[in-house]
Amino acid sequence: MVNSPVLSTQVPTDLEAFWMPFTANRQFKTQPRLLVSAQGMYYTSHDQRQILDGTAGLWCVNAGHCRPEIVSAITEQAATLDFGPTFQMGHPGPFHLAHRLAQLTPPGLDYVFFTNSGSEAVDTALKMALAYHRQRGEGSRVRLIGRERGYHGVGFGGISVGGIAPNRKFFGSLLTGVDHLPHTHNLEQNAFSLGIPAWGAHLADELEKIVALHDASTIAAVIVEPVAGSTGVLIPPQGYLQRLRDICDRHGILLIFDEVITGFGRLGTAFAADYFGVAPDLMTVAKGLTNGAIPMGAVFARDRIYQTFMDSPTAGIEFFHGYTYSGHPLACAAAEATLNLYERDGIFHQAQAMAPFWQEAIHSLKGSPHVVDLRNLGLVAGIELASRPGQPGQRGFDCFQACYAQGLLIRVTGDIIALSPPLIINKSQIEQIVSTISDVLKTLD
Ligand code: PMP
Repeated sequence: MVNSPVLSTQVPTDLEAFWMPFTANRQFKTQPRLLVSAQGMYYTSHDQRQILDGTAGLWCVNAGHCRPEIVSAITEQAATLDFGPTFQMGHPGPFHLAHRLAQLTPPGLDYVFFTNSGSEAVDTALKMALAYHRQRGEGSRVRLIGRERGYHGVGFGGISVGGIAPNRKFFGSLLTGVDHLPHTHNLEQNAFSLGIPAWGAHLADELEKIVALHDASTIAAVIVEPVAGSTGVLIPPQGYLQRLRDICDRHGILLIFDEVITGFGRLGTAFAADYFGVAPDLMTVAKGLTNGAIPMGAVFARDRIYQTFMDSPTAGIEFFHGYTYSGHPLACAAAEATLNLYERDGIFHQAQAMAPFWQEAIHSLKGSPHVVDLRNLGLVAGIELASRPGQPGQRGFDCFQACYAQGLLIRVTGDIIALSPPLIINKSQIEQIVSTISDVLKTLD
């Protein structure tokens, strides 16, 4: 039960009022693409076509769609405790979930603050970093360092540390005191790398330059996605993240990993921090935490950060921050059921086992028309196409539309195809993704 799709094959006539996010509304509304139900690796479109999900929704449905265990956990929870406040009150859900998550996170990241999205998790982590230093009497540490081509959601904090011009330029002066590291993408050095590229660890040393410029005593935190997802799957060079970690340690700067995409098995390990063997001080997650079924995000904090707040000399509330829906009962139920599935079915391990086949399949596209780079790690991949002269992004969008017409959902950012299928994907579905893209590329001008 529960999943009762709109079975009409008619395009609805009420499309006008919904102001769609990150979408060319006018274009979409003349040629809508509507999904009405989903199961496992597939969506069903409004015209009753099966669409292979090459993007796990928006990088979130890691265990596949409409898993009955998650559906029933949410349903039962909704009938038992629909809402419970977590300000000066509690209910068992978030306590149990946080305890469980703390077993899954890298050692030392044992405290969990719940949010409702990745954007909220990012802004929470940035505020935690600033307040942490202040609690310790280092209130001069106010600067935040992000990275070019970083995506950290759409809150004012997130767009300030983020490095995507259109996401920033319409919105005023943003946070002050933000610097950006250079991104690590380099086609001359690293095109067609298998997995982790060899060149570029030294780009982390730019952080030393920023420290030299401003003085360490002014810098609160550095935030990076271990693998930048939304700007086209940029894999960090070998040794790069460790080098950032070392510089942060040398200067008392907190390192934040934004694992909203990489968390919960995308690379075949629970977190990218595990994959790279580099642990941050704060880690943001969302998406795969609930398999996308209910909105939820979280920040994992290192013990000494939590303890700093608890040791605060002022009695009472330690952190003036929170959301009405922090630790929402339905989200907790969805997350518990999701973690059960990940564990029971060994889904992270499945991703790890499939990764070599994925790599081979993705790199078989070398030589296809327009392809200038292929990147992969775990079950994520970027396929970079040459831009059509004078029309950046158009070839990517044409590719997206043609794939959708052929029954495959991909995501494009400019002229880069980003792939991140549910982690339960099998070999023939991987072959279907790659052969569809290969066929489509031959048709594009
Ligand atoms: N951080 C990263 C790395 C993300 O990829 C995203 C979403 N794609 C976010 C933050 C923001 O998450 P949300 O859309 O849930 O606010």
